[in-house]
Amino acid sequence: MDCPDCGSRLSAYVLGDREALACERCAWTGIEADHRGEGSTAESWDEALDRFHARRDVDEAADDADPGAVASSDRERRNGTSADPDGRASDGES
Ligand SMILES: [Zn+2]
Repeated sequence: MDCPDCGSRLSAYVLGDREALACERCAWTGIEADHRGEGSTAESWDEALDRFHARRDVDEAADDADPGAVASSDRERRNGTSADPDGRASDGES
């Protein structure tokens, strides 16, 4: 069998009971493939800057909110748990 595109001899690749024909000269494979990809509209600089600022605002808001809340809740939790075992242990022994 010859290549329908360039007319040169096709190579047959066999794997198990499957066989695929391909042309080594023009890379014809008999499988339809679209190499162009989907056209995407380019992002303008204004849109890119808006996206950048929007993401930075979110990051700053999270940074402002998290450290204080986590630190205070951690301190309260540590004090509460460190006090409890001592009290229960002494209660259980006596
Ligand atoms: Zn070919």
